[in-house]
Amino acid sequence: MPETITFGNFQLEVDHQKTAKIYKGMLFACICDFCANVKITQRRHVPKAQTDLLISLGVNPWKPCLTEFQGRKTFDRPGYGRKLSCWYLYGKIVSSEQTTEPLSFDKLNWVWADSRQTALSGYDSILDDIEGDPGLIYVFTSNEMPWYSDQVSGFKNTVNLDCQNCGRVNQIVGFLKRKSRIPAWIGEPSLEEFTQSRDSRLATSFCLKCGLNEFRIIPRRPRLKITEVIRQWDSFTVPPTHSTKPPQ
Ligand SMILES: [Zn+2]
Ligand SMILES: [Zn+2]
Repeated sequence: MPETITFGNFQLEVDHQKTAKIYKGMLFACICDFCANVKITQRRHVPKAQTDLLISLGVNPWKPCLTEFQGRKTFDRPGYGRKLSCWYLYGKIVSSEQTTEPLSFDKLNWVWADSRQTALSGYDSILDDIEGDPGLIYVFTSNEMPWYSDQVSGFKNTVNLDCQNCGRVNQIVGFLKRKSRIPAWIGEPSLEEFTQSRDSRLATSFCLKCGLNEFRIIPRRPRLKITEVIRQWDSFTVPPTHSTKPPQ
């Protein structure tokens, strides 16, 4: 049974059961720089109202069918880039329009729906088998996302660390650069003290599944490589001011 959902000034009719089949078992396994950045930032930096809307439409907000880096718009802040994502849904836009007005959550993040397949042109589809199904509509988001990878040196993908939150072992780890913006972005500016200290460096880990972000204080001497830091991770001190609450 299709369900009617209010989407700004529009109504969408969505078949949740049929849509759920698209997302069941779908993987978002890519760990290229862009996709890894999305996985470690999205739960903290995508507006919750947007996530809630996507969930109400019956799609998995963390597994877009398509996602790509759109460069930077002139109004995006320094250190940020723009992510455009698309989810496929079975349903229709209930009005004469083929596309909805963009729905803004703030001045940098918005979402819209489109029933025209031409809206997808320019993408390499990973879902060739269902693309072209006339029952589909497409929901797009455009989000300003911080580029954590520019703020960390020696980012390394590892399976040798357990996530304290979700138990998964796929993490990326690195050292925060001296003037890293990450402490400000995550709302923990007191961590800057450790990145700027003569005696210590700050190592960080991000879970590629749930986005949990942890820190360890690493002495500058002896100068350890990141692989050694990963091996001894649990022996290093957690910064006293750091909250280890998982995002959203
Ligand atoms: Zn990728
Ligand atoms: Zn996790």
